[in-house]
Amino acid sequence: VILLEESEVEALVPDFAKGGMRTARLVHRIDPLFGTGTRVIESEKMTGESGNLDQITRRDGFCPFCEDSVATATSPFPEEISASGRIIQGNSWAVPNIVGYAAVATVGIYDITRHFLSLEEFDRDTVANTLSVLVRHAQAVRGTREDLPYSSINANYLFPSGSSLVHPHMQSTIDPFPLGSQSMLIAKSEAHFESYGRSYLEELTELEEMSVARFIARTGTFAWFTPFAPSGFYEVWATAASLGEIEDFSDQDIAELATGLSLVLGAYRANGLSSFNFSLLSGGPLWQETGSRVLLRIVARSPLTAYYRSDVTYFERLCQEAMIDHFPEAWAEKVRHFFGPEAHSVGSPS
Ligand SMILES: [Zn+2]
Repeated sequence: VILLEESEVEALVPDFAKGGMRTARLVHRIDPLFGTGTRVIESEKMTGESGNLDQITRRDGFCPFCEDSVATATSPFPEEISASGRIIQGNSWAVPNIVGYAAVATVGIYDITRHFLSLEEFDRDTVANTLSVLVRHAQAVRGTREDLPYSSINANYLFPSGSSLVHPHMQSTIDPFPLGSQSMLIAKSEAHFESYGRSYLEELTELEEMSVARFIARTGTFAWFTPFAPSGFYEVWATAASLGEIEDFSDQDIAELATGLSLVLGAYRANGLSSFNFSLLSGGPLWQETGSRVLLRIVARSPLTAYYRSDVTYFERLCQEAMIDHFPEAWAEKVRHFFGPEAHSVGSPS
């Protein structure tokens, strides 16, 4: 009962070889969750190799997230959130965001000892530690602020993604109202549950796992696949049938999610990509009644070069349509190699 709508259009383009016009292939798909359109035009390649990142990623002066300044440049949390004022695991620190992007906005620094992490350096433990400090923070907020039931963990990485700081970090939001995408996820889940008595994301995951073409692998409770109608370049989704809210994540859940994220970032690196955004949404406070679940979406952005072309055009920002250069089925095939034959067990902590 999840409809995957696709139509193929013969687009007219100039024929330089023979003169006149010829037809080119344009595939249009509709995302069944968000209702947005995607145009797959395989000849329109947006991605390519990154330039040399050294000059851009080298520390140049003050950095609030580096080891020598983090303790003085960032504020401690209030006592009710952390008795010591700090939430730290390994080299990862959670710190209050200095910009009030949300009722409670927090930064998760991956590693205070490394000013820059290239994509292959986002190993499972580094990613898990960062997720872990933000989850622990969200759990502490949940215990004191019942009026803030909507949480998410997100990331920008390097300038093409919108990040203003080189030092890699995640950002969480905890709010009285849902994010736009979260609101759509909850509304779709609720309507689907009412009509069919099933969780929308559980059913979507089953559909993707059975139809194989876009399914990548599982890391424990998380299922990884490419979405039918991606919202951007090289998008991958992860779902978890048993998890409704970020606050409920166990250490095991965090390790399994970190494993998959680390592998997707490895696939990005191997495919000449260097910048990304991700968004991990909680399913909302009524997830048990609405069948809503957590949803992770990660998308690559234009590779970082001195004069890069942004991958956001009027299609994405104004027309609610993504324009991409590859089919999600072909991308799933590539990412699957990074998860390997042992994909079902790699999430287990070693
Ligand atoms: Zn730094």
